[in-house]
Amino acid sequence: MFWTGELIAKTAPVRRRATSAHPPHIDRGIAAYLGLAIGDALGATVEFLTPNEIRHQIGLHSEITGGGWLRLKAGQVTDDTTMSLALGDSIIASGGVHAKPIAEAFDAWMRAKPVDIGNTVRRNLVTFRKTGNPEAAQSEHDAGNGAAMRVLPVALACYGQPENSSILANHAQAHVTHHNLLSDAACETLIFMVQDFLAGRDPIDVERERVGKLVSAFPVFAYDKRLRENPSGFVVDTLQAVFQSFFATETFEDCLIDVVNRGGDADTTGAIAGMLAGARYGLDSIPKRWLKAVDEKIRSQCEAQALALLSGFSLSI
Ligand SMILES: [Mg+2]
Repeated sequence: MFWTGELIAKTAPVRRRATSAHPPHIDRGIAAYLGLAIGDALGATVEFLTPNEIRHQIGLHSEITGGGWLRLKAGQVTDDTTMSLALGDSIIASGGVHAKPIAEAFDAWMRAKPVDIGNTVRRNLVTFRKTGNPEAAQSEHDAGNGAAMRVLPVALACYGQPENSSILANHAQAHVTHHNLLSDAACETLIFMVQDFLAGRDPIDVERERVGKLVSAFPVFAYDKRLRENPSGFVVDTLQAVFQSFFATETFEDCLIDVVNRGGDADTTGAIAGMLAGARYGLDSIPKRWLKAVDEKIRSQCEAQALALLSGFSLSI
């Protein structure tokens, strides 16, 4: 008894600091943002490789080492994280989710010469510069994953509000570059999933309700047909790979390792899977070696932004 008490007395304060500094939904919101950055940094090393190439060159890819086609420093993130941060900054600065300030924030982000940028993002931001219209024309071709990879600030800012707020807020951010039905459906599904996990909902219910609804509205998203390896930047491919990894694993680490070793658009599958897994499993689930490996400035920006977006500032859509 004595030794048990000693142990608790010595370890409990440490554990309290690590786990209960914030209410659970804030803990999970911070974990979602860190998960996004970790998945981005982990996956970028193997972006555009096939699973076979990864096996031959690395074995199992499970460490944040940088490199890849972008020749990143270890812990450096790509557009998935930096566009999310630009969006979140715009929401916080303008007190709402409005297309014009968001388009301006993305344009400023592009001018700062990001390490990578998607074709659809570039094309529609160049159009915005010319026209001043922050909403891209609807296009069946713009079904890339570029809007889905940056939904997290909207999910956090609209947490606890009616579902329609999230839908409208997402249109404002997504349509700056991706005005497309499949992209919208993917974005909305991801936003509701993050919010469900922040509220502590069971993954089985989340899969049935949110992903089930997506697949019945757009059967092309069905992810039970065949293993989605080497996923492209097509938002359907991306979500199929993410859902297969996310629902077939039971830890943050297993989910991310599974998804990035599928190769293809691995920084984005990693980022989206990391966001969902962070929201589902919480801060304690994130391997310390990955937390330490992510660029320190990015890490603190993610934490601060998650806190600010979840702090219930009055949001106008
Ligand atoms: Mg990227």
